[in-house]
Amino acid sequence: MRMQAQAQKTIIRVAVPVPLRQCFDYLMPDDTDPELLRAGLRVLVPFGRVKLVGIIDAVVADSSVESARLKHAIHLLDEKPLLNSELMQLCHWTSQYYHHPLGEVYATALPARLRQDRPAAITGPVAWCLTELGRSTDVPARAFRQVAMMTALRQAVDGLTEAQLDTHSGNWKVTMRSLEAKGWVECRALAIDRAVEVRLLEQGLALNDAQQQAVSKIMAGLDRFGVFLLHGVTGSGKTEVYLQTMTTVLQQGRQVLILVPEIGLTPQLMQRFKQRFDVPMAIFHSGLNDGERAYNWLQAQSGQARIVIGTRSAVFAAMPEPGLIIVDEEHDLSFKQQDGCRYSARDVAIVRARHNDIPIILGSATPSLESIMNSEQQRYQLLELPERAAAATHPAMYLVDLKHQHLDEGLSEPLINKIHEHVDSGGQALLFLNRRGYAPTLLCHDCGWTSQCQRCDAHMTLHQASGRLRCHHCGSERRPDSHCPACGSADLRPIGQGTERTEEALQRLFPDKRIARIDRDTTRRKGAMEQKLKDAESGRDQILLGTQLLAKGHHFPNLSLVAVLDSDQGLFSADFRSAERMAQLIMQVSGRAGRADRAGEVLIQTHHPEHELLQYAVRQDYPALSRYLLQERQTAQWPPYSYLAMLRAEATQQSMPIQFLRDAVTCASDIPGSDKVMLLGPVAAPMEKRAGRYRAQLLLQSPERADLHGLISAWLPQIEQLKSSRKVRWSLDIDPQDMF
Ligand code: ADP
Ligand code: ZN
Ligand code: ZN
Repeated sequence: MRMQAQAQKTIIRVAVPVPLRQCFDYLMPDDTDPELLRAGLRVLVPFGRVKLVGIIDAVVADSSVESARLKHAIHLLDEKPLLNSELMQLCHWTSQYYHHPLGEVYATALPARLRQDRPAAITGPVAWCLTELGRSTDVPARAFRQVAMMTALRQAVDGLTEAQLDTHSGNWKVTMRSLEAKGWVECRALAIDRAVEVRLLEQGLALNDAQQQAVSKIMAGLDRFGVFLLHGVTGSGKTEVYLQTMTTVLQQGRQVLILVPEIGLTPQLMQRFKQRFDVPMAIFHSGLNDGERAYNWLQAQSGQARIVIGTRSAVFAAMPEPGLIIVDEEHDLSFKQQDGCRYSARDVAIVRARHNDIPIILGSATPSLESIMNSEQQRYQLLELPERAAAATHPAMYLVDLKHQHLDEGLSEPLINKIHEHVDSGGQALLFLNRRGYAPTLLCHDCGWTSQCQRCDAHMTLHQASGRLRCHHCGSERRPDSHCPACGSADLRPIGQGTERTEEALQRLFPDKRIARIDRDTTRRKGAMEQKLKDAESGRDQILLGTQLLAKGHHFPNLSLVAVLDSDQGLFSADFRSAERMAQLIMQVSGRAGRADRAGEVLIQTHHPEHELLQYAVRQDYPALSRYLLQERQTAQWPPYSYLAMLRAEATQQSMPIQFLRDAVTCASDIPGSDKVMLLGPVAAPMEKRAGRYRAQLLLQSPERADLHGLISAWLPQIEQLKSSRKVRWSLDIDPQDMF
């Protein structure tokens, strides 16, 4: 009996989505042919009192659990593995590197619908078409709705999808149902042929020398792993480099994966892909519903989608024939997942390229310091596009020293004059202020009381338009006080500048100009962002005011003036990365000015015009800027000169998180090799109280990655056993990006 089991391998090792660092063995479901068992199949298993959908991680002959105690799996969900070995390998790597349970990593890789107990059929868009009968039928003219519908269907070669029909008429369903009842139309799943033959809808641009060099170097490396760091100022034509290398890869019959920070913010990028290539694409963005997401995932998995574009989680899109990976704006923080499995999509993408032995392009106008250092050490190949492709000139950059300046709601006189100058001569101005709302706090002029959040160590922001005080950290809100709760005074004043308040000032200063505010508050409605961007692009709005939402890759053809209203925010902060971010931001927003035939100007308001970072930023000297920042990092031994992990804990009781972290430190000190890792803390988090919970953190730092991970591997099982671990919520963050 036992011999036979060994020969047949009937035990499945299943990764289930639970926070436990192990797989679980099951007997195969009853009535299953052992030949059908494969790693990568989904399977429903009993787990405690519930049933869970897990992934078969391996099929084995023997289990360390005695067979009498093994349970049967309930049933297989797939005939063919949903996850191929490449994707499974990637999930294994992610699980190990981020010290996160494998079952949860698989769950991260799969769209929600495919984590449910149902078959993975491609039941995406369907199209309505005429039947044979319908084609040869003449509809009586008085049924005009039906006639119109039949005519529309006759003209559409591949039928009409429901989305197309929605634009056609509001209640097409009624008409369609009567046509269907007559047997004139039918609904078919949209069949997409695998278009290995790539049709180009437009010719590529004639490349300039720098672009040509970049493309040639990447082309020469298409058959193997390599990381290309494409460093090009905004508007230098990085996208064209992507498009032309993609063309070759697609023509070789391979798929391309593109990761972008946020799709809603890069509609123009999508547009350019669609304009260039006539191939099926799977686009992942936050606007998709579960069904669409699963459909797109399966399109990529089946190989039908040749181009896969998406944000962070698309790095786990299954693809049978990957040939190239592109990470656009590689420095962007949104590539780092901030809860659950805290992976960096950029780093996972690099590992994925290595596993597949294919090239990866990291593109940015302001590469991360980590990537710069990797290119200096020849691990990445640096490709530079120093000039703008279309507009030949860099914008002129000026620092406006705010010391002793008269400020009108945060706007200096030189800035106000510049706005007049540009807008009056037909240009467009973009003002950048990274703080939404009206004012960051309310202050009592008589006793100094400020509007604190009850649940956080933070102020509540005044939102004038909606008449609310809101905490941007926990979302609490309430009506603003009419009198000071401390002393009863009625003299409560909004302190500081938010975008709402600046907008109000702009309306007063420029009453006859069209002003648009673009921040999270004005773009909450679905489609609002797209509309706002369209209006801005068309040149209709003359003054644009926005938060960092506007810093990303938009093309405003008419834009001639960019101003950063408050650059001092980022220069002085507890987080060692914030100066880097402010400098990157200045370089990114500056790239927006003077794109077409207009010369651009950039104004940066600051109280510290002598600050070295600002000096480099206005000279648009990113190499010098990054050298300066790297030096700082080296002195302080921060990454990339060391490796970090952060153990965070939070609880409603203030003493608990610290207690847990202290216990964790005690565990660590007994582990061999712990002397090679520095444990900094525990300390209260910079914002200790947030959403009613107290937070503390312990930072682990080591010059060697292997030492850090070695310690953590031995340490986590011990932490999980700690009694104090049950009284807190804790999480481990490898390569943390955010020190809060
Ligand atoms: P980036 O992605 O670096 O911001 P883009 O690829 O969007 O830059 O290029 C900026 C502008 O320059 C676009 O309008 C693009 O059409 C144009 N452009 C890019 N490459 C060329 C080229 N070789 N010749 C002419 N125009 C170009
Ligand atoms: Zn008061
Ligand atoms: Zn709060």
